[in-house]
Amino acid sequence: MAVFKPENVEDFFEIGEVLGSGHFGQVRQVRERATGTCWAGKFLKIRKIACSRLGVDRSSVEREVEILQTLRHPNIVTLKDVFESRAEVVLILELVSGAELFDFIAEKDNLLESEAIEFMKQILEGLGFMHSKNIAHFDLKPENIMLSDKVSPNPNIKLIDFGLAHCFHQGEEYRSSSGTPQYIAPEVINSEPLSTASDMWSIGVITYILLSGLSPFQGETDEDTLKNVIAMKYEFFERDRMTAEECLLHPWIKPITRKQVANRNRSSINMKNFKKFNARRKWKMSFNMVLMCNRLVQLKLLYKGRSDPDPLQRQCESDTEDTESKPTSLLRRRLSSSS
Ligand code: ATP
Repeated sequence: MAVFKPENVEDFFEIGEVLGSGHFGQVRQVRERATGTCWAGKFLKIRKIACSRLGVDRSSVEREVEILQTLRHPNIVTLKDVFESRAEVVLILELVSGAELFDFIAEKDNLLESEAIEFMKQILEGLGFMHSKNIAHFDLKPENIMLSDKVSPNPNIKLIDFGLAHCFHQGEEYRSSSGTPQYIAPEVINSEPLSTASDMWSIGVITYILLSGLSPFQGETDEDTLKNVIAMKYEFFERDRMTAEECLLHPWIKPITRKQVANRNRSSINMKNFKKFNARRKWKMSFNMVLMCNRLVQLKLLYKGRSDPDPLQRQCESDTEDTESKPTSLLRRRLSSSS
């Protein structure tokens, strides 16, 4: 069982600038008072009432913490500590100070295929390690693939955000409808039993985008994207999905002949398309953030204007209205999707 320290996080860490935000709180830079070392503090609001949409279940945080504690790998963000107060849990994580991988690439004028392969190799190494422990990430997307630092010419990949990750136990059948439309596997949408192979689907989509700057299943709307994924409209030969380990041994990642090495260095990725894709992705992320804030403001105004003394009950009602025919988690994730 993960230990959540009951002490006040501010007694040990000075809280600094916001590094990013997610659905359930913010990630801020924090400075350890005793050593001066900087970390990232992920502040998660804990849900008070089961049917409320505000905050995250404590059990989900426990799962994220347990998974992070299991994973010690150079390409996976490390968890240092966990603090808990009445209303929130704070995860003290290794500070990942580089940009998102896609933003780093979009800044460049040119990227050789061999450089793209080096990044994919590191992603697969982190993922292969997780899979060897029967843990699936289930939310692989460009926003969750970061670089260790801004200074080194060849920064390391760091996989972040284990909020949807799951550790499989022997014989367990696990289903989930969470994810981001552009990157989720058909079995997620179809509510079928999942496995670590679902991550490999996302890897396929990310690699495709990285090399071509085009998103293979992207439709006009999220619904269209999901339909394209289920229809599996792509022009590849039918074959089983490879594991991370098999990918690492494929000649594209690990060339055997001189010709294979030369091919990787000859071709570059399509920067024009890639920059266009990334600009659109960032725009969509900002748009969704504004949308989410507006929704929160509207909800607050709605509660203020009513005389009903039980606002949490109203929260439950509005949850039901909103999610009529769609799984809540998928809907929630869609707000942050960049399809
Ligand atoms: P989401 O709702 O999108 O799943 P979340 O609430 O689970 O998000 P994260 O994705 O873990 O939160 O973090 C949100 C953002 O904070 C990230 O996109 C990233 O920009 C930043 N971030 C997260 N972890 C770190 C870290 N260890 N170091 C630096 N920045 C981080």
